[in-house]
Amino acid sequence: MIRELEIVTQRDEEVPLMPISKELLDILACPKCKGDVFLNEKEDGLVCKRCRLLYPIKEEIPVMLIDEALPYKDPEG
Ligand SMILES: [Zn+2]
Repeated sequence: MIRELEIVTQRDEEVPLMPISKELLDILACPKCKGDVFLNEKEDGLVCKRCRLLYPIKEEIPVMLIDEALPYKDPEG
């Protein structure tokens, strides 16, 4: 029984969930300031720190529209 549990745990670790690839992040830019965006902690949106906007990722597709962007609260203040 213990062995079975170990196998399940290992399987979970082997599947890295990357909703947005690094290559895609390099291409994407904030539509407002054309600056760099980065993935937020929850990995459900792209953040532009300069504009303090969060562009939501819907079904693995980042929505880079100012109208769709949400206000981003920087946890660092
Ligand atoms: Zn911006």
